[in-house]
Amino acid sequence: MTDLDSTFPLTFTLTPSEAVRAEVEREAILADPGFGKHFTDHMVKIDWTLADGWHDAAVIPYGPLLLDPAASVLHYAQEIFEGMKAYRHADGSIWTFRPEKNAERLQRSARRLALPELSTDDFVESLKQLIAADGAWVPEGGETSLYIRPFMFANESFLGVRSAQKVGYYVIASPAGAYFPGGVTPVSIWLSTDYARAGRGGTGAAKTGGNYASSLLPQEEAYANGCAQVLFLDSSEAKYLEELGGMNVFLVKKDGTLVTPESSSILDGVTRDSIIELAKARGHKVEHRKVTLDEWRDGVASGDVVEVFACGTAAVVTPIAALKGDDFLVGDPDAPAGELTMSLRQELTDIQYGRIPDVHGWLTRLDA
Ligand SMILES: *Cc1c(COP(=O)(O)O)cnc(C)c1O
Repeated sequence: MTDLDSTFPLTFTLTPSEAVRAEVEREAILADPGFGKHFTDHMVKIDWTLADGWHDAAVIPYGPLLLDPAASVLHYAQEIFEGMKAYRHADGSIWTFRPEKNAERLQRSARRLALPELSTDDFVESLKQLIAADGAWVPEGGETSLYIRPFMFANESFLGVRSAQKVGYYVIASPAGAYFPGGVTPVSIWLSTDYARAGRGGTGAAKTGGNYASSLLPQEEAYANGCAQVLFLDSSEAKYLEELGGMNVFLVKKDGTLVTPESSSILDGVTRDSIIELAKARGHKVEHRKVTLDEWRDGVASGDVVEVFACGTAAVVTPIAALKGDDFLVGDPDAPAGELTMSLRQELTDIQYGRIPDVHGWLTRLDA
């Protein structure tokens, strides 16, 4: 069920919102946006049907969707999404980071969830169209951004169990303040032993809401134990590191080697891929392979593992001070952030915000 027929790129219509927020109201929101609380004035919508493929691409006023109670997504969770950011550079221009990676991942997620694929060109154009309408919502200064959430779901009114023949793709956007307003602080994470995030042959490698639904209960357990996030192990042997609920992980060895888990049931992060590239360019060895929990535990004990961090678009890079479980503690919850962790974080954000040259060709301009 593919629909990558992009010899005819989609053309978008615009229906301007009649409820565009006044500049003062927008500026008040942008002064303290938080995360995921406020949304811009418009959204993108593209319809898909089995008979007609992708059609009716439009920028329309942001607002509630009217869903039939039998809409298939509400029953069988046929849904996928992406998460990316628009960054305002010092000269006012608006850029995003490696959008083709997100487009390709959305295509892979679509294949796994039996949803139609949207071409990379149409995906990138959908972001530009939203920014053309709502560019004023991209905050400036500090580590602020406009968080962009493309998503796709089955919207056929049908309770039979099969892939839907009617689908919607949407893009919404939400201004975001700095993830660490008081400066980057290391976190402790919780090792989930009762729950797995994904199993062999499941949907772990797809960015789909169901993976998040299953991570919420263990996440509650993490909070109850004073931790910020959960670490999941592989589901069959509970021996190998997988990832956090929404971030990938790295161990840093004493000799400067970076190690990150290889698994068919984790999400292939754009941030992780970029950090691998940056570390290699600096001459670090990077190992993408199976990593046991013991390697972390014993490595911290012997001094061979000197830094641990998590990465993803929202927080970029988060230092991990300690791993806690029911009956153990690895690391020191009060340990400071690792040096390499922080310098890779700095380099990546410097590229994203246009403070150093984009020698990897990772940025795409959205407002021109
Ligand atoms: C989105 C996501 C990540 C991070 O991916 P980025 O492309 O770096 O933002 C990691 N793990 C999961 C489960 C995710 O959904």
